[in-house]
Amino acid sequence: MTRIVKDVVIIGAGAAGLMCAIEAGGRGRSVVVLDHAGRIGNKIRVSGGGHCNFTNTNAGFEHYLSNNPHFCRSALARFTPRDFMALVTAHGIRHFEKKLGQMFCLGSAGQIVEMLIALCRKARAELVPGCQGIRVSRNRSFIVETAGMAYEAESLVIATGGLSMRNLGATGFGYDIARQFKLRVTPLRPALTPFRFRKEDIARYGSLSGVSFDAIVHCGGKNFHESVLFTHRGLSGPAMLQVSSYWKEGDSLRVDLLPGIDFPGILQEKSRGKIHLATLLSRFLPKRFALKWCDLFMPSRPLCQFSQKELAQINVGLHEWIILPAGLEGFEVAEVTMGGVDTNELSSKTLEARSVPGLYFIGEVLDVTGQLGGFNLQWAWSSGFTAGQYA
Ligand SMILES: Cc1cc2nc3c(=O)[nH]c(=O)nc-3n(C[C@H](O)[C@H](O)[C@H](O)COP(=O)(O)OP(=O)(O)OC[C@H]3O[C@@H](n4cnc5c(N)ncnc54)[C@H](O)[C@@H]3O)c2cc1C
Repeated sequence: MTRIVKDVVIIGAGAAGLMCAIEAGGRGRSVVVLDHAGRIGNKIRVSGGGHCNFTNTNAGFEHYLSNNPHFCRSALARFTPRDFMALVTAHGIRHFEKKLGQMFCLGSAGQIVEMLIALCRKARAELVPGCQGIRVSRNRSFIVETAGMAYEAESLVIATGGLSMRNLGATGFGYDIARQFKLRVTPLRPALTPFRFRKEDIARYGSLSGVSFDAIVHCGGKNFHESVLFTHRGLSGPAMLQVSSYWKEGDSLRVDLLPGIDFPGILQEKSRGKIHLATLLSRFLPKRFALKWCDLFMPSRPLCQFSQKELAQINVGLHEWIILPAGLEGFEVAEVTMGGVDTNELSSKTLEARSVPGLYFIGEVLDVTGQLGGFNLQWAWSSGFTAGQYA
């Protein structure tokens, strides 16, 4: 079998792997990036609904979940959202802030992949898609074998991402490599994923599929003010995806259906009038949901017919709608994997394994999970860049 000697082999040509290749190649290291997918950067291409929410200008450690929440600080400081935006601007990719610091491409996400591929070319990093059956071993250097080819390198970077969306090329390869080298992997679970209703809630709310509204969702000591979407099977939308990362089995979701609205004041003002509760509620919530809420919790009639006690109940019910989910949707729809290679195993400065010199882990494969809104790609860029400075 032909054996090619390189300085750095990177496995995984996604966001983190490509950024690492650009930085390491730019330092004059000879780099090859291997990926089993036939096309480079599949996840980037579908990210942000096809427009790639490529960073968040507020990316700080407080937007990431990890057993060691401070681990990501060093890499995030080394390559910041501003740095990535400078690259995007220099490549003429038009972009805009959607909300809350979330930066998106005006055109297609493919532009980001094209930019990364062009930068890899400039850095003389070789990209090899379609590599099946990759195996890794180590004597003094790392040996990476694929069908028909072997590479030898002093640095090996694992950038194979998480488990979410196998159809886009996700595998557990990175976790297997960590275990092969006796590095701990924290428990893995889907995150940034919708909730599933219990059977009785499917019967109650299943017909509302497609209805969305603005709300504050509380769970696990966190709350997010964004939109919520009913699906056939449960609840989705940005607010629900965000809290899914903080949810534990048995936790309820507490939802303020009328955030920032002084509903007690409005109820009092209208309490002598003939307006029906459902009609009043429809001014603040989608009509279908307003009708359903009344059906389930307080049959609609003219407001003047409600007692003060009932008005108080209506108010509490709307500001504290409680849902006990059956669980989370799985890796097939989750945006990211929570958990991963234990950060205690790595240097936060270099992302190199403490016990295996020359072995680096970057991106989503690590136990660093961003909130929704461009934080996960920023972690991929920052960690890829950082490892690229040392690998
Ligand atoms: C639908 C969707 C939309 C998203 N939108 C956004 C967004 O807008 N903004 C944001 O910040 N984050 C978003 N994310 C999350 C973000 O895409 C990931 O966190 C990020 O891509 C992780 O980068 P990575 O380089 O670590 O892994 P990936 O980008 O997943 O790259 C891993 C690479 O490794 C390859 N690979 C895997 N296993 C093997 C193997 N056995 N052998 C060889 N190669 C292998 C894969 O083919 C892939 O190319 C989204 C995720 C999904 C699923």
